[in-house]
Amino acid sequence: MSDLQELYQSVILDHNRKPRNFGALDGANRAADGKNPLCGDEVHVALHVEGDTITEVKFTGHGCAISKASASLMTAAVKGKTRAEAEVLFARFHALVLGQDAGGGKDLGQLVVFSSVSRFPVRVKCASLAWHTLKAALDDGPIDVVPSVSTEA
Ligand code: ZN
Repeated sequence: MSDLQELYQSVILDHNRKPRNFGALDGANRAADGKNPLCGDEVHVALHVEGDTITEVKFTGHGCAISKASASLMTAAVKGKTRAEAEVLFARFHALVLGQDAGGGKDLGQLVVFSSVSRFPVRVKCASLAWHTLKAALDDGPIDVVPSVSTEA
């Protein structure tokens, strides 16, 4: 494994162990659930969208290290972005994990750590799950404010 791949691996493991933005989101006005039956990954993404901007995003769920780290890095990447910006990022991320990003994800910030996923096709769904769920939450439109529940630690 190259130094770069080791670095990427350590970022993924760090986000798996200490996921950012993990937990229930008080006052969420968008939410969706995603499942990847192939691997058993499950994720719940909750957003607070104001106007066109994702002001807050959190997730809960469980799954493999890739799915959890991807959800963690997704929330960090889209917080404060507009919906259009988030959709562009998703398209770029999807191309990256399929090995189709022209620049190899070099300008995608920490999301670049998932570039090696393209060599493991079965892992593409793990890495994309949180992003598909984000898109579903945005596409579903506003929901009633979700009462804060603590079903998962
Ligand atoms: Zn998985």
